[in-house]
Amino acid sequence: MVSDVINTSELHKVDPVFGQLSFDNHEQVVFCNDKDTGLKAIIGIHNTVLGPALGGTRMWQYKNEWEALNDVLRLSRGMTFKSAITGLNLGGGKAVIIGDAKTQKTPELMKRFGEFVHSLSGRYITAEDIGMETSDMDLVRDVTPYVTGISESRGGAGNPSPITAYGVFMGMKAAAKYKFGSDVLEDKTVYVQGIGHVGEALVEHLSNEGAKIIIADINEERLQQVSKAYGAEIYRGSDIYSEDMDIYAPCALGATVNDESIHKLKAQVIAGAANNQLEDEIKHGAMLRDRGIAYAPDFLINAGGIINVYAELEGYGKAEIMRKTENIYNTTLEIFKHSDTHNLTTHFSALNIAVDRIEARKKEAKK
Ligand code: NAD
Repeated sequence: MVSDVINTSELHKVDPVFGQLSFDNHEQVVFCNDKDTGLKAIIGIHNTVLGPALGGTRMWQYKNEWEALNDVLRLSRGMTFKSAITGLNLGGGKAVIIGDAKTQKTPELMKRFGEFVHSLSGRYITAEDIGMETSDMDLVRDVTPYVTGISESRGGAGNPSPITAYGVFMGMKAAAKYKFGSDVLEDKTVYVQGIGHVGEALVEHLSNEGAKIIIADINEERLQQVSKAYGAEIYRGSDIYSEDMDIYAPCALGATVNDESIHKLKAQVIAGAANNQLEDEIKHGAMLRDRGIAYAPDFLINAGGIINVYAELEGYGKAEIMRKTENIYNTTLEIFKHSDTHNLTTHFSALNIAVDRIEARKKEAKK
C-alpha cells in the first residue's frame, strides 16, 4: 500500500508544486500529457495581473520531472518581472516540453501542445524558446491564436534576436554611463561570451561604436565568421573571468556570475543577454554591489525579444518596437539610481519596481 512507503511526516519536504521554492505564488500550473504523441509538457502561469501570461516554450531533455518543473516555474516567474519592468501589459508564463527537440519533436506533438495552450483560452500565450523554431510556432498557430513568434508571412514580427541585441546594447551603454561617466564605448574592452543569434548582433553594434571586442564561443566556425565580419579578436585563453576587460557581456549560458567568477572578474560592468546570469540572485547580486561592479539586470536589458513579440499582439510596427527597446537605456539608468538611493542591488531594484507596477494595477482593478 502506498501509505506503507510514504512517510507522511516527511511530506512537507517534498511538496511537489506549491512547496517548491520557485513556485513563488504561481497562479496556475498545468501538466499536459498525451499518450499518442508522447507529449509531456508543463505550462506555468505565474501572474496575469498586467495581462495574459506570455513566455516561450522550451523543449529540453531534462534529467527528471523535478528539473523540468523547477525550470518552468523559475522561467515563468522571470517573465512576470521582465514584462512588468519593461512597461508591457503582459503577465508572466512559460512552458516546457520534456524531450529531445532533435529526435522527439513532431508536427503532431506540436499541434497537440497547441491544443493544450488553446484550452487555457488566452490566459497563456506561447512563443519560441530553446528547442523551438518559427516553423513550430506556425504549427501551434494552426490550432490556436494564442501564439507569437510565428513567421512573418503569417503576420509574425520576425526574428527577435537583433532586437534583443539592441536592447542589451542600450542597457550596456547605460551601465557604462553610470560606471564610467560616459556611454561612449569606443575605448572600452568588451568580452562577448557566446556569439550566437544575439551575441553576433551585439558584436555588430559594438563594432560600429569602435569598441575593442573579444569574442568567446565553443563553436569554432562561428568564431571565425564573426571575427572576420566585425574585426573582433578571438579569445584563446582558458579563464575568461580573469582577463582584463571593462565590460563582460554574457550571451551564452546562465549562472556564469557565481562565487568563483565574481572573485576573479576585473570587469566594471556586466551587461549581457543570457537569462539568469546570477547563480544566486541574492548572494551574487550583493557580491557584485560590494565589489562595485555595475550589473545591468539581465531580465531588464534582454527584453527586446518580448517587446518584439508583444508587437504581434498589439499590432504596432518596427518603429515602435525600436522606440520601446531604446527606452531600456533610460530604465537601466533609473535602476542604477534607485539601487543607490535605496541601497539595494540592481537586481532587486528592478524586481521591486516591477512588483510595484503589478501591485498598483491590482489596486486600480479593485477600485
Ligand atoms: P544561441 O543559441 O543562438 O547562441 C548561444 C551561443 O552560445 C552559441 O553560439 C553557442 O555555441 C554559445 N555557447 C554555448 N555554450 C558556451 C560556452 N560555454 N561558452 C561560450 N559560448 C557558448 O542563443 P541566443 O538566441 O543568441 O541567446 C543567447 C542568450 O540570450 C541565451 O541565454 C538566451 O536565453 C538569452 N536570450 C535570448 C533572446 C533572443 O531574442 N534570442 C531573448 C532573451 C534572452
